[in-house]
Amino acid sequence: MPTHLVAILADQLLLEHPALIHAQTLAPKTDIQVVLVESQARLQLRPYQRHKLVLVLSALRHYAAALRADGWQVTLIAAASWRAGLLHTCAQFNPDSIITMAGAEYNARRAQERWSSWLGRAVTVLPNRQFLAADVPATGTKRQTMESFYRMMRVRYQLLLEADGSPVGGSWNYDAENRKPLPKHTPIPLVQRYLPDELTLQVIADVAAYPQTYGDASTFGLAVTHAQAADALARFIRERLPDFGRYEDAMAADEDVLFHSLLSPYLNLGLLDPLTCARAAEAAYHAGLAPLAAVEGFVRQIVGWREYMYRRYWELMPELRTMNAWAATRPLPEWFWQGQSGMHCLDTVIARVWRTGYTHHIERLMILTNFCTLAGIDPVAVNEWFLAGYIDAYDWVMWPNVSGMGLNADGGLIATKPYISSGAYIKRMSNYCAGCRYDPAVRTGPDACPYTMLYWNFLLTHQPRLQANPRMGPAVLGLRHLDDAQRGDIQTQAVIWLQRLSEGTSA
Ligand code: FAD
Ligand code: SF4
Repeated sequence: MPTHLVAILADQLLLEHPALIHAQTLAPKTDIQVVLVESQARLQLRPYQRHKLVLVLSALRHYAAALRADGWQVTLIAAASWRAGLLHTCAQFNPDSIITMAGAEYNARRAQERWSSWLGRAVTVLPNRQFLAADVPATGTKRQTMESFYRMMRVRYQLLLEADGSPVGGSWNYDAENRKPLPKHTPIPLVQRYLPDELTLQVIADVAAYPQTYGDASTFGLAVTHAQAADALARFIRERLPDFGRYEDAMAADEDVLFHSLLSPYLNLGLLDPLTCARAAEAAYHAGLAPLAAVEGFVRQIVGWREYMYRRYWELMPELRTMNAWAATRPLPEWFWQGQSGMHCLDTVIARVWRTGYTHHIERLMILTNFCTLAGIDPVAVNEWFLAGYIDAYDWVMWPNVSGMGLNADGGLIATKPYISSGAYIKRMSNYCAGCRYDPAVRTGPDACPYTMLYWNFLLTHQPRLQANPRMGPAVLGLRHLDDAQRGDIQTQAVIWLQRLSEGTSA
């Protein structure tokens, strides 16, 4: 009978899992039982997008199959909860000890710390090895900016550096060369779809039985194995990385992914390793296959933003969940789940979420959370919606991105300014406005773009606080051009509009 149980969480599908490596230092494979749990409590926690459920379940089942093929004894159990699954497996195998790796999420990690007490067995919780930042010493109480963290990570992992330690090309940041709108008729490579195999088809059938889910699982085409995820990375590097930086901030009504990587679902499950992704991009630069601005931009996302968010999450939890710096209490409009707002940009992006479970960064930030910030929507409700809708959503990445970067509910502990804009920005960076009944240049009246009206209303309402922020100063200066009558009109229309939004009578 096995003497050690290795418990692997569903978002830890690492090829070289630390708990498996550690267990082998204690006993031969024949004395080790691996347990994976399909926790129904977790899978039915909220009304998830079906692609997310299929991705998580199919990747887990493929992982179990891969471990078995590698000679491991694996129990994959569908249980009411992780606790129920562990109790059942311990009763079945009576292990001497349990080995696990700390979860990326706060609740998972706190739960693991309690396993020993209710299982009555020794539990070893190994440090999490899914993140590069996990090994980086904390900077004490002083907050580290993302830019300084990113440079430190580049040095630590020797990424895009000259022999003398200076950044390749002479600069740490090539953002100025990026962020262009997408010219009409730009050819965009298709994203590879991975046809569901029998195992995935079974998962799709299982997920169809879950109550209260959204989306059409029959269109599922994401990678679910390490080999497929590696293929997705290779295709991105070859086909989309060269234009990644240039069009990183562009949006298009009829394009879901543009030149983005669509790798976050795989990174967050452990199907891809962040350093492998960054090094693959670096190699493409050295091989002359992608320009430095694109490669640096991608490396910045992976070893900069992603790792920074993970680090800030752990520095700010659990308080991050209750932060609400702008006292935003309005309920999330019902049309985020179903229905139409009448705003072309917002409706297109919301429909994309329920169709694919994915939108790229700027749509998350400048369409979705921009609107929620300007409309004063409750951060908890916004987080819940993102957690339900996105294929790459997990607690550790959602709270710092949605409450921190997106809504500024942390008062600037993660991003140094609120990411808000009027319709003018959306018009510049997308083709949404051409198909909209509103006019992005108009602040008041029946044609007023809600983003534009709410943006000016936000500046007026929060003027003293915003002008104290050096990064918001120029925006607040724009208020000088408004006379008293214009200010009054904006605020009166915004109050009525927001009141209707709260009542659900119309957007
Ligand atoms: P690319 O644009 O190709 O970027 C490459 C990679 O960089 C991504 O795959 C991702 O792993 C990483 N990355 C870039 N920015 C961030 C960031 N701010 N935080 C974490 N990783 C980053 N990311 C998630 O992984 N899950 C989420 O649930 C999530 N929710 C978000 C919600 C909001 C409101 C905002 C503003 C951002 C959110 N992000 C989230 C961050 C980012 O938008 C996504 O990682 C990115 O859009 C994923 O698409 P991609 O793989 O095509 O990314
Ligand atoms: Fe969105 Fe305003 Fe443009 Fe309409 S006019 S698409 S609401 S930004």
